[in-house]
Amino acid sequence: MVDQNPFFEPSTLEYGLPPFAEIRDEHYLPAFERALADHLAEVAAIAADPAPPTFGNTLVALERSGALLSRVDSVFANQASAHVTPELRAIEPKVSALLAAHSDAIHLNGPLFARISALYEQRDTLGLDPESLRLLERYHTRFRRAGAELDAEGQRLLREINAEIAAASTEFGQNVLRANAEGALVLDDPAQLSGLSAAEIAAAAENGRELGFEGRWVISLKNFTNQPELALLDDREVRKRLLDAALNRAQDTNGPLAVAMAKLRAERAALLGYDSYAEYVVADRTAAGTQAVTDLLARLVPPAVANAEREAEALAELAGGPVEAWDWAYWSNKLRKQRYDIDEAELRPYFELDKVLHDGVFHAAHEVYGITFTPRPDLPGYHPDVRVYEVFDADGSGLGLFLCDFFARESKRGGAWMNSFVDQSTLLGKRAVVVNNHNIPRPAPGEPALLTFSQVDTLFHEFGHALHGLFSAVRYPFFSGTNVPSDFVEYPSQVNEMWALRPEVIARYATHHRTGEPLPAATLERMEEAARFGQGFATVEYLAATLLDWAWHTLPAGADPGDPLAFEAKALQDAGLALPAIPPRYRTSYFSHIFCSQYSAGYYSYIWSEVLDADTVEWFKENGGLTRANGDHFRRELLGRGGSVDSMIAFRNFRGRDPEIEPLLKRRGLTEA
Ligand SMILES: [Zn+2]
Repeated sequence: MVDQNPFFEPSTLEYGLPPFAEIRDEHYLPAFERALADHLAEVAAIAADPAPPTFGNTLVALERSGALLSRVDSVFANQASAHVTPELRAIEPKVSALLAAHSDAIHLNGPLFARISALYEQRDTLGLDPESLRLLERYHTRFRRAGAELDAEGQRLLREINAEIAAASTEFGQNVLRANAEGALVLDDPAQLSGLSAAEIAAAAENGRELGFEGRWVISLKNFTNQPELALLDDREVRKRLLDAALNRAQDTNGPLAVAMAKLRAERAALLGYDSYAEYVVADRTAAGTQAVTDLLARLVPPAVANAEREAEALAELAGGPVEAWDWAYWSNKLRKQRYDIDEAELRPYFELDKVLHDGVFHAAHEVYGITFTPRPDLPGYHPDVRVYEVFDADGSGLGLFLCDFFARESKRGGAWMNSFVDQSTLLGKRAVVVNNHNIPRPAPGEPALLTFSQVDTLFHEFGHALHGLFSAVRYPFFSGTNVPSDFVEYPSQVNEMWALRPEVIARYATHHRTGEPLPAATLERMEEAARFGQGFATVEYLAATLLDWAWHTLPAGADPGDPLAFEAKALQDAGLALPAIPPRYRTSYFSHIFCSQYSAGYYSYIWSEVLDADTVEWFKENGGLTRANGDHFRRELLGRGGSVDSMIAFRNFRGRDPEIEPLLKRRGLTEA
């Protein structure tokens, strides 16, 4: 049985695609256990090598180690998010604890760090090429940041804190999943769903059947605050109930966990010599320091609030009175319809999923980068919904595999994201295998999946992450694809959103799914205007979440945040973002990005990256837009580099200068006094 574990041998499938058809839940734990033991043995052999340290016998050897671990971990990470089972959920805390302890066992290995340090001291005389030199520097930094220079007592304490953080983080994530399920809104009367389309009402009934509410209608919670149905539901009371369910998720369980984690992180940062966890995080990001982040946020808040207040006035006029938080999206939708003659629901027949994917997302990538896509139904995914495409470069060579998993299901967490199954590396002779996950509501049987424009935009966004993985052209896996600072990683994906509204792209993919008629040119123009409408709300709800993250993680060690609700309220008040009608995009208790993902003290990254994104879009416009020459330049200087060059240097090499903020201010309507 044990010997038949499909993780034990490298995959024989093309591009090293994991053998999903053979993987079962009971394979993970034994694979992890063997993988961690193998990796530790490899690392121990490197550390104990009697030969003096060389770049090859230490750094390259480390880069080659842990093959089994990457195989099982990459599959598990995706599976635990995209198609979790009760069995996987049960082993998740154990896996998370094992991985945290494993990371410590490597980074706190004294003899190993001594070898890396010795090489680091001689780095200028080793004759290393730039990527290898950077690898050495990055390893040295990573080990130092993980506590390699602490004394024995410091390291013992660090291991303890890391284990506690890992456990709390897993629990936080599981609480969110449970609270999402428990918070689903169950409705008894179809009249309460007035405003939703017939297909959406049917989907809510189907959802009810699946969840054991036969004959009732169930609206499941998405992971952010502002539920999409709020824009449509005519019944004000139902809207209020839905928003309340979203806002009050997991308060009792995750509020105290947030307090505990913020304290642990501050303590950890102090141990490593930083004033706060945010100081620790930002020291290894592209931002020049926490003050630079604080300054950017402070610069954006007043004009964003002013912009949102103008929107609130316009909405109040239409609604005949002030709008509350549960009314905002509803009246905003109505105003958009009135002012721009745009109705999300009426646009959806023009955005059929397959058409958007093939003639929009793939077509744009073909025009800009010359790449092509071939469906590979012969290659199995991890769920029947998953589709596999082989991606070819302009010269016909294979670049990698692109998997997509579009539909929401109970076994998938909310949101949209990209995962990598195989990281490109010339050292290991590997090409990329990546997946995009989405939460598009599954259409009723026999019906096409019709998207909102926001879902179209997300399709382009996530594909930008996929391109970052697929175009990676680095030697070391350490630098592959999206292994860049987290305040940089959203930049390439945001840039890819630009193609969604380009006339030559939208003209191809936006055709009516029944009649084949193109989206009228006048509608397209109005969509562009409408895209600027609502930026006040969007910016404020985003900044509110960002400032919450910042407040939790700029606490000095030893500080007690106290009651989590009071802490949250004060943080928003202090930031000038306590607007009752615009709650944060995530409240503390369901802010998974910062408590169980890698965005802790990093939610600012989206707007930080957007500065680069907006400036890059300007560059494309100035240089003729969608052309192969532009795409090749962006790919060569930026997408292909992964983390192998300093991210801001890569930006400068691409743009020819430092980023400027004006394009972002203009895009978000923040330029007016
Ligand atoms: Zn993203």
